[in-house]
Amino acid sequence: MRSSRHSGPVLAVVVAAALAVTTGIAPAAAHPRPGDKVPVAVGTGGAVATVDADATRVGIEVLRKGGNAVDAAVAAAATLGVTEPFSSGIGGGGFFVYYDAATRTVHTIDGRETAPMTMRSDSFVEGGVPIPFADAVTSGLSVGVPGTPATWQTALDQWGSISLHKALSGATEVARRGFVVDQTFVDQTTANVARFSAFRSSADLFLRRGAPPAVGSVFRNRDLADTYDLLGRKGVGELYTGRLAREIVQTVQRPPVRRHSPLVVRPGLLERADLASYTALLRQPTLVSYRGLDVYGMAPPSSGGSTVGEALNILEALPATTDRTQTLHRYLEASALAFADRNRYVGDPAVVQVPLQELLSDGFAGERACQISATSALTKPVAAGSPDGVYGPCPAPATVGTEGSDGQSTTHLTTADRWGNVVAYTLTIESLGGNGIVVPGRGFLLNNELTDFNFTDTQGGNDPNLPGPGKRPRSSMAPTIVLAEGTPLLALGSPGGSTIITTVLQILVNRLDLGMTLDAAVAAPRATQRNTAAVQAEPGFDRAPLQALGHTFADNPEIGAATAIEFRDDGSVLAVAEPTRRGGGSAGVVERP
Ligand code: GLU
Repeated sequence: MRSSRHSGPVLAVVVAAALAVTTGIAPAAAHPRPGDKVPVAVGTGGAVATVDADATRVGIEVLRKGGNAVDAAVAAAATLGVTEPFSSGIGGGGFFVYYDAATRTVHTIDGRETAPMTMRSDSFVEGGVPIPFADAVTSGLSVGVPGTPATWQTALDQWGSISLHKALSGATEVARRGFVVDQTFVDQTTANVARFSAFRSSADLFLRRGAPPAVGSVFRNRDLADTYDLLGRKGVGELYTGRLAREIVQTVQRPPVRRHSPLVVRPGLLERADLASYTALLRQPTLVSYRGLDVYGMAPPSSGGSTVGEALNILEALPATTDRTQTLHRYLEASALAFADRNRYVGDPAVVQVPLQELLSDGFAGERACQISATSALTKPVAAGSPDGVYGPCPAPATVGTEGSDGQSTTHLTTADRWGNVVAYTLTIESLGGNGIVVPGRGFLLNNELTDFNFTDTQGGNDPNLPGPGKRPRSSMAPTIVLAEGTPLLALGSPGGSTIITTVLQILVNRLDLGMTLDAAVAAPRATQRNTAAVQAEPGFDRAPLQALGHTFADNPEIGAATAIEFRDDGSVLAVAEPTRRGGGSAGVVERP
């Protein structure tokens, strides 16, 4: 096992600053954060939008030095692994959507975590009863083979122009020198104090005498800097077949839980062979046409592309309206219908037969759309439809699906370069803080992505998302690129569990149907209808006109944390991040006008 990052000069600096620390946290004064976060930037020469100022800065630097959108996306993602370690990192997975300007084609990488080969459909069931969800999250059992390192390597091999070592160098520097802790980081650490306290490795890294770091202090993660160095020098194979692979397996099989911890931490099933056989897969994107635009998304095992795409098709099947209330009413209804179909039909296509083509067909959308009334909301949950290729008037309902989980973790970034290449990349470790376990001495958390499986059958014997050997759990991540006549118009995405789908959809509706500017479309109050009795809505969302149509509402303080880029007719780009959600994001361009 490697030495922890308490040793050496970092500690010396910290002690010299008279701040008693047990982690890589130092006072802020020596490390002013360059530039404040701005959520909107307009310019040329390329752009980066992320949730974090350091990640955006590192991405922009890569572009400035001649790197392309893929190089910048990997560099920014690696930096998010440092500054947003509870949302993403090399212990997790994600989905990468790329527009290649030279060939005018869209490509995707499925970097989803996979289940171990020994996982069974009842692996989350004990004595006939599903394991409590929180127990499953904080366990070895929830850990899938990380897909993020393989995604980075694949993206760089396919379309990048710099080495992994170079792509990681900015992030490595941020990890080594430190970044200034903000309120969001403190809040996210606070939410994890009980879990992190249970594992020495996690407490050592993220807590100081059992508590989160202070706002304004500098947080260093020297272990992660060393891990990035190692991956840069030896390649990501180190994490799949090398020493790091052995350490991950050991951590999963024997979680480093403290002896007197009150938590029940189950060991996991992951073996070295599972890591060794992992591949990030190049997949065909999903594609639907909407209002004359081509909307590209992520295919299964993500339900992002199919669900956003089906909902857009349903909206387009309805007669045109300019009425704002009707537009939002339809948005909610189309979401519910598409979610019913998602729950019933979408899973890992290597294991279940997903009727993707039919789910995205205009015929099926027409059949689903005929259920939407202009004057009253459907009673939820609605039943799944029959994407069977035979479409007539509204058919009798089939089985009913529901939607539960919605996380606050994950992160989305969007990049573009001067050549017109574009990346929309969403990555995650699933829950905020993943499974709560830092690989000892390595500086990163493991994912709990396998809790994205349904623990028991939710679909009357037809659940496409039960656990299985080597299976990838269904995701909601929806990195999306929209083309107008073959060239990019929009790129966007968001975190937020299954609300990712509705956030992406609502931003598209806001921008394309309600005519908002992209920054207004991102900032606007959100509502999410995922086939549940009540619509969840942020406080600012105007509910009254929709209540009049029969929609009922429940409060959700904050939905999603999007980033997006719009490509404008004059050749400039508009990069957009959240103005306030999760503390606000950071948009940057290479050259300002
Ligand atoms: N694991 C979730 C998914 O793949 C994302 C988690 C989140 O955004 O909170 O859909």
